[in-house]
Amino acid sequence: MQAAVDERTAIQAAIRQGLSNDEFQLYYQPQVDQNGTLVGAEALIRWRHPSKGLVTPDFFIELAEETGQIVQIGTWALDVACKQLKAWESDSNHSRLYVSVNVSARQFHQPNFVDEVLRIVEINGANPHRLKLELTETVVLDNVDTVISRMKHLNGVGIEFALDDFGTGYSSLSYLKRLPLTEVKIDRSFVNDVIADASDAAIVQAILAMSQTLGLGVIAEGVETREQYDFLVKHGCQKFQGYLFGKPMEIDGLSRIAIPFGIK
Ligand code: C2E
Ligand code: CA
Ligand code: CA
Ligand code: CA
Repeated sequence: MQAAVDERTAIQAAIRQGLSNDEFQLYYQPQVDQNGTLVGAEALIRWRHPSKGLVTPDFFIELAEETGQIVQIGTWALDVACKQLKAWESDSNHSRLYVSVNVSARQFHQPNFVDEVLRIVEINGANPHRLKLELTETVVLDNVDTVISRMKHLNGVGIEFALDDFGTGYSSLSYLKRLPLTEVKIDRSFVNDVIADASDAAIVQAILAMSQTLGLGVIAEGVETREQYDFLVKHGCQKFQGYLFGKPMEIDGLSRIAIPFGIK
C-alpha cells in the first residue's frame, strides 16, 4: 500500500518536472477519407523521459487526471497543436488538415475552459475551423446542459467536436442528438474484431446507420487491416484512423505523407 502511494507521488513529481523540462511531445496519427486522402491528424501525447525513454500516455494520463495535472498537460497539448495548425497554414499540402486534440473531463469542466481554448487559439493565430476537440462520454455525461452550452460557444468560432471511444460508455441516444457534435469515433475495440465477431460487426453497422440518420460524421479508429477497412467502407464509414494508414508519428513523418495517401 505504502509502496503504491510512494510510486504515485514519485510519478506525480516526475510529471511536474517533465512539464518544466519540456519533456512532453505531440505525436500525430493520420486520419484519411474513403479515398485514402489525408484529411487530418490526431495529436497524441508522448513523454520523452530522460531515463525511461518514450513513455506512452497509458502510463501517466490516468494519474494526471486524478492529480489535476491533466489540466496543465491538456493546455500544453492544445498550445502545441495550435502552433502546428499555424505552421501548416502557409503550406498548401497541409493547410486544409484538421488537428484533433483530446480533452479530458477534468480539463473540460474547469470554469475557464472556454476562455482558455479561445485564448490559446488566438495567441497562436490558429484557424479555429481546423481545430477539433475529442471528448469522451465521461466528459459529456456530467452536467449535460453546461457541456452543451460550452460546446456551442466554441462551435461559434468554428471549433468542432468529436465523441471519442464511442460505444464503450453509457451515453443515451437521446442526448447524442442534443450534443453539437460533428462526428463520433467508433472505438477501436469494436473495429478490432469486426471481421471475426458477429456482434461487433452488428454494433459497428448500427453506429454507422445511426450516425447517418442523425447527420453525424463517423470516423473509425484502430483500423489495422484491409479487411476491416473494406467492411467499414461497405457500411458507409467516411473516415479512418489506424496502423493501416500510419502509426502516431513525429510531425516530420506526417509532412512526408504523400497526398493522396492512396489505399487503392
Ligand atoms: P485515444 O484517444 O482513444 O487514442 C487512440 C489510441 O489508439 C492511441 O493510443 C493510438 O496510438 C492507438 N491506436 C491508433 N491506431 C491504432 C491501431 O490501428 N491499433 C492499435 N492497437 N492501436 C491504435 P495512445 O497514443 O497510447 O493514447 C492512449 C490514450 O491516451 C488516448 O486514447 C487518449 O485517451 C489519451 N491521450 C493521448 N494524448 C492525450 C492528450 O493530449 N490529452 C488527453 N486528455 N488524453 C490523451
Ligand atoms: Ca482520442
Ligand atoms: Ca479513441
Ligand atoms: Ca480508445
